[in-house]
Amino acid sequence: MELHLLGTGCPAVDPDRMGPAALVRSSDGARILVDCGSGVSQRLVSAGTPGADIDLLLLTHLHSDHVVDLFQLVISSWHQGRDRGLQVVGPAGTQQFVGSLLEVWRPELEGRVMHEKRPSIEGLDVEINEIGHGAEMELGDLLIEAFEVDHRPMVPAFGYSFREHDNHLVISGDTGPCETLIEAAMGCDVLLHDVLLKHEMVPAEGIRTQETIDQVASYHATADQVGRIAAEAEAKSLFLTHFVPPRFDEATLLEMVQADYDGPVICGEDLMLIDVENPTAARVVNCRP
Ligand SMILES: [Zn+2]
Ligand SMILES: [Zn+2]
Repeated sequence: MELHLLGTGCPAVDPDRMGPAALVRSSDGARILVDCGSGVSQRLVSAGTPGADIDLLLLTHLHSDHVVDLFQLVISSWHQGRDRGLQVVGPAGTQQFVGSLLEVWRPELEGRVMHEKRPSIEGLDVEINEIGHGAEMELGDLLIEAFEVDHRPMVPAFGYSFREHDNHLVISGDTGPCETLIEAAMGCDVLLHDVLLKHEMVPAEGIRTQETIDQVASYHATADQVGRIAAEAEAKSLFLTHFVPPRFDEATLLEMVQADYDGPVICGEDLMLIDVENPTAARVVNCRP
């Protein structure tokens, strides 16, 4: 099982870190996309798995930075020759969100379909399944489990666990420290966790006050919490992602995290490819350099 990071950024735009998205490839060929932040369609092409090849899209929650490129994913996949619908799994509210999104674009899409006369329109179908805590899905040998995380007031929000044979990968989505994640991630080979670098954030006129910083920090795991989370979960490796802010001092971050966690800590980068069986060999793999 492989994890290919697509976007390791956050709502603050950075040319090197796209919006949150990650691709999981099972050994028997299933391709699962987790979230579709800004730039996901481009990153999928660079990862060698264009949107047309995605078997399942899992949404962690409906914050815009995690879903903003969903329509772009559908359209770009169709332009790549996709000839089957997209299965989307997400929390309550996904049906309404995606339905509204498709409705906004319906007149444009109908006009395009009529005029462009492409061979198939099946690739434009989107099938939604809303799930709850503990939902399980199977794709070949891959077992996926959703678990609710603590991203209040954004409720519900999920993390996802992926098990294939003896390999175990857990993706946090967006969350502060929470027991359900620690339970789900117990002994996992790879924990991919969001991190908020509160120590890098200062009030900025017209952008953020101290109150803004405190509020944003309150629903994410901060740099001085995430090591403890990995240690409590006895994770065998910790990869960090969803960096807020997207530019920071890496040495300081690693020092803070390693104060509480003895295992390998790796700052994720866009297009970093992680073999879940051998995570410390992770490297950036860009099929379209
Ligand atoms: Zn969020
Ligand atoms: Zn987010």
